[in-house]
Amino acid sequence: MTGPLQDPIATDALIIGAGPAGLFQVFELGLLEISAHVVDALPYAGGQCIETYPDKPIYDIPGIMACTGRELTERLVRQMSPFAPTLHLSQEVSSIQTQDDGRFKVETSRGTAFLAKTIFVAAGIGAFQPKRLRVEGIEALEDEQLFYRATDAFKSQAAGRHVLVIGGDDAAVDWAVRLADDTAGDNPQRPASVTLMHRRDVFQGPADSLDRMRQLVADGALQLVIGQLTGFDAAQGQLTAVHLVDPEGAVTQLRADSLLVLQGVSPRLGPVADWGLALERKQVVVDTEKFSTSTPGIFAVGDINTYPGKKKLILSSFHECALAAFGAAKIIFPDRQTPLQYTTTSPRLHRMLGVHAPAASE
Ligand SMILES: Cc1cc2nc3c(=O)[nH]c(=O)nc-3n(C[C@H](O)[C@H](O)[C@H](O)COP(=O)(O)OP(=O)(O)OC[C@H]3O[C@@H](n4cnc5c(N)ncnc54)[C@H](O)[C@@H]3O)c2cc1C
Repeated sequence: MTGPLQDPIATDALIIGAGPAGLFQVFELGLLEISAHVVDALPYAGGQCIETYPDKPIYDIPGIMACTGRELTERLVRQMSPFAPTLHLSQEVSSIQTQDDGRFKVETSRGTAFLAKTIFVAAGIGAFQPKRLRVEGIEALEDEQLFYRATDAFKSQAAGRHVLVIGGDDAAVDWAVRLADDTAGDNPQRPASVTLMHRRDVFQGPADSLDRMRQLVADGALQLVIGQLTGFDAAQGQLTAVHLVDPEGAVTQLRADSLLVLQGVSPRLGPVADWGLALERKQVVVDTEKFSTSTPGIFAVGDINTYPGKKKLILSSFHECALAAFGAAKIIFPDRQTPLQYTTTSPRLHRMLGVHAPAASE
């Protein structure tokens, strides 16, 4: 998906990835008066914490006995908020080119372009992408009748349509239930019918959601189909039906003109490997003084980087972000010394953080 290129946004720092490393990088840069734009392939911040363990507790964040992936993300977002970064979500950074003036031209899959003095690659294990259907030609329907996220565009086109939700985890069950509940109400956006399809009759999700799903099936408000998609019918470019094969190998056809595919996400290292940075086993090689990559001005923090002794832990990435920010300050403010100041005692930092006295610890 590549959109038209817009005028480049000039920025001191561009952060690629809004996982815990990218979010804390905003904060550390902010303390040094460096403002940042952040890009992530996901439609929300949090990286692995939100995508793979939002409700599981983490026990090794310093000073916090336990917090879930979602809580940590919320805390990091709140912590960076005084620095008001601009987040560009649901788009992947596709290319980085060095310009004659030393800045980097960065482009995303949505056509957003940046001219950045420094770049922070906080890309974790890669850009999270929805797992797509592997049916020849079906990609032509994407964003019209085939959606990998329940976006507003999906919701508005689903009105009056025969919606097929594909997937077996929480998100698929949750959306099948919501849409089926809508068919019974007087919501003007209600679909004509809702079917949930998964390859096995095994679904994941909170017990109340699974109970509701089974109840809607029993009431006839939701159809349940066990099988896999093998093909589709379209007339004048419009999806009309899908073909599926059941576990016994029988092939059937199902009326459907709107597909919501929620089969989870998988990380794709993808473009990071094309940016000309020295790599070792698909990790970006950095120094441990300022977490600079082989290209001066491009730093790498968090799970994406490697150095002797690297441990893929959130707490390691926080340290990396602090030193990378000081590394960037030398590039952005070449004539200025950047002394270390404590957030506890520096009135300047208090002003920047919007606190007049040290914030009480939570
Ligand atoms: C089940 C599980 C449990 C864990 N438990 C712990 C724990 O208890 N303690 C601990 O310290 N660590 C734990 N971890 C590891 C921890 O989650 C990672 O170390 C941490 O998330 C790394 O943060 P990050 O910001 O570097 O990368 P990520 O969290 O992976 O975030 C990277 C972000 O970059 C985006 N991205 C990548 N490439 C691009 C691109 N080209 N364009 C746009 N966006 C891009 C991705 O979409 C993603 O959102 C756990 C991990 C898992 C899977």
